[in-house]
Amino acid sequence: MRVAIIGGGAAGMSAASRIKAIRPDWIVSVFEKTNFVSHAPCGIPFYVSGFFEHFDELCTYDANFFRSERNIDVHTNSEVIDISENSLVVEEMGKEREYEWDKLLFATGAKPKRLAVQNEDLEGIIYVEDILAAEKIKRLALKSEKIVIVGSGYIGVEMADAVSKLGKKVTVIEIAERPLPEYDAEIAAILKSEMEKYVNLRLSEKVVAFEGKDRVERVVTDKTEYECDFVIVAIGVRPNVDLAKKIVKLGKSGAIRTNRKLETNKEGIYAAGDCAETFNIVTEKPDWIHLATPANKMGYVAGVNIAGFELEYPGAVKCQLTSFHDLEIGKVGLSEYEAIKEGYKVVSAFVTSKSSAKYFQNGLIHLKVVADQNGKLLGVQAAGNGVGMRIYGATSLLYKKANVRDLFFTDFPYYPPVSRVWDPLVIAARNLFRKLGIP
Ligand SMILES: Cc1cc2nc3c(=O)[nH]c(=O)nc-3n(C[C@H](O)[C@H](O)[C@H](O)COP(=O)(O)OP(=O)(O)OC[C@H]3O[C@@H](n4cnc5c(N)ncnc54)[C@H](O)[C@@H]3O)c2cc1C
Repeated sequence: MRVAIIGGGAAGMSAASRIKAIRPDWIVSVFEKTNFVSHAPCGIPFYVSGFFEHFDELCTYDANFFRSERNIDVHTNSEVIDISENSLVVEEMGKEREYEWDKLLFATGAKPKRLAVQNEDLEGIIYVEDILAAEKIKRLALKSEKIVIVGSGYIGVEMADAVSKLGKKVTVIEIAERPLPEYDAEIAAILKSEMEKYVNLRLSEKVVAFEGKDRVERVVTDKTEYECDFVIVAIGVRPNVDLAKKIVKLGKSGAIRTNRKLETNKEGIYAAGDCAETFNIVTEKPDWIHLATPANKMGYVAGVNIAGFELEYPGAVKCQLTSFHDLEIGKVGLSEYEAIKEGYKVVSAFVTSKSSAKYFQNGLIHLKVVADQNGKLLGVQAAGNGVGMRIYGATSLLYKKANVRDLFFTDFPYYPPVSRVWDPLVIAARNLFRKLGIP
C-alpha cells in the first residue's frame, strides 16, 4: 500500500508516524515543499525576540530522524504541483516527477491572507508564512529602527511583543476597533492598555498602500502615513486548498470538508490540520479551527483511519493562549460577540479578582464567562495573571459540554500562591446563577 502525504507540518508528520507505527510494511511518502518537517511556527515570535538562538529548534525533529527512526519516505524541497485521482506531480531538485498513491492525505496547512493594496510586493514587506519568515524577520528586525505591523490578531500581537522586546519603535495598525478582535471589548481593553505602553497602537485604521523606491519606506493608511524600515503583515490566514479543490469538496469555511474520520468526499482521500474543516464542539457545527493542537490530533486520527482502523475526531473548542509583555491572555469557545453572531441568546459575567490569596502580590485576573439562557457554557476569556490554568480548566468543561453549575461546582485546586478558595471562574459562575435564576 502506498500512502502519499502532502505537507510535512504538524498534521502531516503526526499522520505519517501513526501509519508507520500501525503498518510498518506500507510505503508512506511525505512531500514537503520547504527544507523543514515537523516545524512549529508557534515558536516564531520567541525566536525573533531572542528567547532562543538556534533556528532549527523550531523543528521538533528533522527529516533524517523520520527517515531513519520511523522509516518514513520524506521528500523535502518537494512541492506537489498537480494532483489526479491516483497520482501526484512533484517538483523536486528542479525536475518534475510523478508518484502514484493508493491513499492520500492533504496536510497543506494555511496561507497568510494578502493585503491586496498598492505596492504590496515591495521588498521589506514580510508575511509570517513559515519558519523561513522567522529568519528573515529576525535579520531585518535587528538592523531596523522603525517596524510597522499590520494586524493585531494573536500573530500580530505576538510579533509586536517580539520586536518591541528588541527595543524597536513599533507601530501596530488594526482595522478593527480593538486588538484581538475575536475577543470581547472588556478583555481587549486590558490588552490595549498594555500594548500602548510599548507600541504605537492605531485602531480603526486601514492600510491603503505602501510606498518606497526599491523597498518599503512608508505605510499609508486612510488616516495618515508611517515611516518604516520594514513591515510585518499578519491579517489572518486562509486554508491552503489550492491543490485539494481540484479533486475534493470544500466546506462552507473554504477548508476541505471532512467527516469525523477525516475522510473527504472521495474514498481514500483524507485531510487534516489547517487545510481541513472540522467540528466545533461548542456550536455543534462544522468549523475551521486552525490551531496546532487540533492539527496534531487530526493528523493522528487521519493516520489511524488511513491505516485501516477506526477512530473519530470529536472536534475542537478553539482554545488559545497568548501574551503581550507581562499580560497573559486566553480564550476558549465563543466570546459574547461571537455567540450573538451565532444566534445564541446569551448571559455573561465579567469579574476582576486577585488570582491568588490576598497576601501574594500576583496581580489581578479579568475573566469573562459566556453562557446561553439555559446555562450551557459557551466560552471563557481572560487577561491578567494566572490566565493559563483558568483557560485549561474551562477548556475541559467546554469539551464535555458543561453548564454553569458544573463550572461552579468543579473543585479547582486551592493553593494560596496561585489560586483562591473562591476561584475567579467560580465567582463568575456564581454571578451567572443570579442571571439564570439559580439560587
Ligand atoms: C507565528 C505563528 C504562531 C502560532 N502560534 C500558535 C500557538 O501558539 N498555538 C497554536 O495552537 N497554534 C499556533 N499557530 C498555528 C499553528 O502553527 C498551525 O495551526 C499548525 O502549524 C498547523 O499545522 P498543519 O500541519 O496543518 O500546517 P503547517 O504546519 O502549516 O504545515 C503545512 C505544510 O504543508 C507544506 N505544503 C503546503 N503546500 C504544499 C505543496 N503543494 N507541496 C508540498 N508541501 C506543501 C507547507 O510547506 C507546510 O510545511 C501559529 C502559527 C503562526 C504562523
